Amino acid sequence: MKNYARLTATVAMKNYGLFFIIYFVTVSNVFGELRNGYAKNNFQTRESLKNLLFLLAENKDMAPSHRRGIKLRIERLEFDILYYELTENLLNQFRIIAPTLYNEIDTIKDNKGRAVHVYVKFVPEGATEVKAWGTTYMSQAEDDLDAYRSEYGNLTVSVKIWIVNNALKVLAHELGHVKYQVPHLASYCKFYERHYYSSMRNPHTMGHGTNDPSGKSATKYGNIFRKAYSSFLKTQKGKIQNPILLVESIRRNLNNNKIKLDSTTVL
Ligand SMILES: [Zn+2]
Repeated sequence: MKNYARLTATVAMKNYGLFFIIYFVTVSNVFGELRNGYAKNNFQTRESLKNLLFLLAENKDMAPSHRRGIKLRIERLEFDILYYELTENLLNQFRIIAPTLYNEIDTIKDNKGRAVHVYVKFVPEGATEVKAWGTTYMSQAEDDLDAYRSEYGNLTVSVKIWIVNNALKVLAHELGHVKYQVPHLASYCKFYERHYYSSMRNPHTMGHGTNDPSGKSATKYGNIFRKAYSSFLKTQKGKIQNPILLVESIRRNLNNNKIKLDSTTVL
């Protein structure tokens, strides 16, 4: 069988409400099955940013075109750091609100008993090829049809979620797809090809046809999260803010730190 990239997408959820602002010290758990998709290069990203800021501060007479090039690189690095922090924050919120769902994905194995890492990236609205709130990229390893693969390598899954008000519910929905697909990959890929490749389909409805077990699992996870979130709000007290505003507050924090770094550099 050829190795296709398949998509499951989420588009039909609205106005889920607000979320807690939680700045946790903890980062990924040590077992790391459910992972921040930006984490892989986080250390190098921060080091590169620091070096470029020093370079700019110490070379005031740098040619304007060179300076513009460096500023562009700085912007890209700052983007990755901002969305790394945001993804950390939202994954932690998800773990606290719905620990059972989180742990199910955190310990997920394929049908040969191998641990599969699930990488999540929260991204700006509209920043994915398929225009949907959430996307799970389903693909098989060339030589092992039971092995999920993604841009992170074999035995990995890649999930991307837009920053929208209900981003955590969208994440729950996509993780529902993952929960079914990882242990049933070979058989589900056959099902998927039979049901969706015979005709031109709207990519937004693929993965949610009649009797699609992955679609059912996604709907179930979305509903479980909705209930868990509702009971979390009843029992917890705290300041809440939606993910869109959270981006801005993390951006402000990072900018404040950058200003400190800049002034240190100048001194
Ligand atoms: Zn879906």
